[in-house]
Amino acid sequence: MLGSLLNLFYPSLCYGCHEEEVGTEEMLCIKCFQELPYTGFENIPGNATEKLFWGRMNLQFGASIFYFVPGNAIQEIIHQIKYKEEKNLGIFMGRLMGQKLSKIMTQQQIDYCIPMPLHPKKEYKRGYNQASLLCIGIQDVCAVEYHEKVIVRTENTNSQTKKSRIERWNNVETIFSINEKEKIIGKNILLVDDVITTGASTESCGQMLLNNGANSVSIAGLAFTI
Ligand SMILES: [Zn+2]
Repeated sequence: MLGSLLNLFYPSLCYGCHEEEVGTEEMLCIKCFQELPYTGFENIPGNATEKLFWGRMNLQFGASIFYFVPGNAIQEIIHQIKYKEEKNLGIFMGRLMGQKLSKIMTQQQIDYCIPMPLHPKKEYKRGYNQASLLCIGIQDVCAVEYHEKVIVRTENTNSQTKKSRIERWNNVETIFSINEKEKIIGKNILLVDDVITTGASTESCGQMLLNNGANSVSIAGLAFTI
């Protein structure tokens, strides 16, 4: 209530450039919106996100929607979503993801989405999982629901990327644990994450879903680092 009252007097600034004024529902100014660095990956079989997982896990499809470049609007937007509690911005970006993904999600008969689980301590501290916000936006556009608690994170794994592939593989079972196995069997699942960098934890999570009976696992990232 207070927020909307304040907005009457102080219009919001664009989350991309922090310069242009925008309406409360708009999030981005026209310039930032038009210049969003879309990858087009969702239309490219064998795109860079899919290639990242080649030889690592059996992926149905993979796509990151935007390029993440230091200093670009996407970096700024993700910072706001993760560290500034800009939840509506997360849902807004999820809707943009949904617009790009709806066709392939239908083609691949995706049953539901799973936001990449955060460690419970981290989620408690932040108050939310940013990947869940993206899933809400995807659900708005694609009418594909999401489930947050099918698989949960059991260990804080900042050091995960430093481990070798074999070590990571052996570590899979200890990082994530399956919470609702009955929801996994025979399903085509889309794992949703904010930024896909090494793909290590995404791979672990996806592999665990496959090991527990998922028919297929696909991956969608808001952004891809280049
Ligand atoms: Zn702007």
